[in-house]
Amino acid sequence: MIPHTGNVFVISAPSGTGKSTLTSRLVKNMEGLIFSISTTTRQAREGEVEGKDYFFVDHDAFDRTVAEGGFLEWVEVYGNRYGTGRDWILGMLAKGVDVLLDIETQGALNVQERMPDAIMIFLLPPSAKELERRLRSRGKDSEEQIELRLNYARHELEHFPQYDHLIVNDDLEEAYRQLESVVLAARSRRCRMEATARRLLSEF
Ligand code: 5GP
Repeated sequence: MIPHTGNVFVISAPSGTGKSTLTSRLVKNMEGLIFSISTTTRQAREGEVEGKDYFFVDHDAFDRTVAEGGFLEWVEVYGNRYGTGRDWILGMLAKGVDVLLDIETQGALNVQERMPDAIMIFLLPPSAKELERRLRSRGKDSEEQIELRLNYARHELEHFPQYDHLIVNDDLEEAYRQLESVVLAARSRRCRMEATARRLLSEF
């Protein structure tokens, strides 16, 4: 178990659910919340920026980081590898900054094992048909990648019982408000506010 001061938010969703739209808006709007930038061996998609969306590396560089124990967790999905950098996140959390991890279910469960008080959020598509429509209409992936992602969606959805919050992304605004509420509520949890409350108490 890894001790930490900031909140860890883990968000998972089948590819195409709208997770990136929601998380980037959340991080932009909420002070004290930062996005964990993963490392991947996947090719950058058009418009993706190195060091903003991902750190794009080759297999050798990924292997080296694995060997050095540089990942908090890592997985292989859709024929590519993805990993959450360890030191940077732990440094932020130690400073009391909240960190948001956008990772798939297998990695999410590994993080939960190490950080049992991580706040686990699962974003659901309104329906299987709508997910397929969104995946195709975004036009970012090959047909093969779309098939892989749809097959993996079912596998990911089966993990919903391990999450604390389930949010359906049907109406974007509503989903966003729910997501923001989860973050705000987590910040007022007793375990996070205990020191403040004790300091206040000592003033009386
Ligand atoms: P994409 O290729 O669409 O950017 O991401 C594919 C999947 O990998 C998404 O479900 C995303 O959340 C997940 N992912 C991205 N980075 C990481 C990571 O560092 N660890 C894990 N376990 N999953 C990740």
